[in-house]
Amino acid sequence: MPITPLMPVYPRCGVRPVRGEGVYLIGENGERYLDFASGIAVNLLGHGHPHLTKAIQDQAATLMHVSNLYGSPQGEALAQRLVDNTFADTVFFTNSGAEAVECSIKTARRFHYANGDTQKTTLITFKNAFHGRTIGTISATDQDKLRSGFDPLLPGFKVVEFDNLDAAEAAVDDTTAGFLVEPIQGEGGIRPASQAFMKGLRRICDDKGLMLVLDEVQCGVGRTGTLFAHEHYGITPDIMAVAKGIGGGFPMGACLATERAAHGMVVGTHGSTYGGNPLAMAAGNAVLDVVLEPGFLEHVRAMGDRLRQALDQMIPNYDDLFDSVRGMGLMLGIKLKSDSRAFVAHLRDHHGLLTVAAGDNVVRILPPLTIDERDIAECIERLSAGARDYAPAKAA
Ligand SMILES: *Cc1c(COP(=O)(O)O)cnc(C)c1O
Repeated sequence: MPITPLMPVYPRCGVRPVRGEGVYLIGENGERYLDFASGIAVNLLGHGHPHLTKAIQDQAATLMHVSNLYGSPQGEALAQRLVDNTFADTVFFTNSGAEAVECSIKTARRFHYANGDTQKTTLITFKNAFHGRTIGTISATDQDKLRSGFDPLLPGFKVVEFDNLDAAEAAVDDTTAGFLVEPIQGEGGIRPASQAFMKGLRRICDDKGLMLVLDEVQCGVGRTGTLFAHEHYGITPDIMAVAKGIGGGFPMGACLATERAAHGMVVGTHGSTYGGNPLAMAAGNAVLDVVLEPGFLEHVRAMGDRLRQALDQMIPNYDDLFDSVRGMGLMLGIKLKSDSRAFVAHLRDHHGLLTVAAGDNVVRILPPLTIDERDIAECIERLSAGARDYAPAKAA
């Protein structure tokens, strides 16, 4: 068999979407899917949201791209809104999550370099983390399936157990620049860090002059019911990577930092040809218009509670299949007692429900943040029907 024109690095399934309408995806032959995957936590506003669509259309017709060598009224406006609504004082826009993490790593190293602490270059990262697919970001994880065959990887990362504060503290030495951590591991299986862990990392960073770098690429931008997930922990980072939901489907990301953390990032130290171009900024501004509307995050919390309750109520009915529910807001995971990939495929192929598999046999439930009670009821109906006629679990 010759290689496919699309490099065959994804296990692509039979769903071939050609159109989206709100919480539904429509396939080539008109099949309708309830989309509780959202392009993996990307389509925050669902598909074809009129405000986002119009903003992109208007901006595309007005001015799509200019170089970062010119002033950017559109970028300044979005950066200012992010600064006004977060811990951050400054923002670098990227085209993806991995690039946002790369910028975060560079900012953390450069902080110590600019302080004259040139030996402080190592970031402590965590088992089963996912930070992207660049050489730098695969070097920051211990997951063999991401790293295998890509040696030599980069030095400057030390991986310890997730949510184990003693292990994190014990790993700190003279070469430590800081910690890089997802407050809620996404690909790793919707694992929220504990309060004590996140607060503890903040304390260690404060005590030792280290950078707390959060990867909120998946859990950020309203997904968990607060604008950013770290708000649940009552702490702020020094540096934070954001992407996925921030463009609502338009490819973009951002690295946010405090003034102190970014003091080494002076003219010439970093850049991106496309990063923050007017089209991306129009998308980002349109998403924020909706997410910052009074009542929107309350809606996410209410729908998150509702969905969580419904899942908690459903799973004991199929206790040969389901183990437990975890997560925050509309970033939820159902841990299965068997392979989650097979069940995700079953829901997709036989019940028209899209979810995403994750590590630790978890089915990720990541709906658009705009869902209502009817969508939740439909999801639960399809999930229950899927659990009822799921053969592998019955046989096991
Ligand atoms: C998806 C993801 C990334 C990588 O984002 P890309 O846009 O695919 O580069 C990084 N970190 C986390 C936590 C993610 O979920």
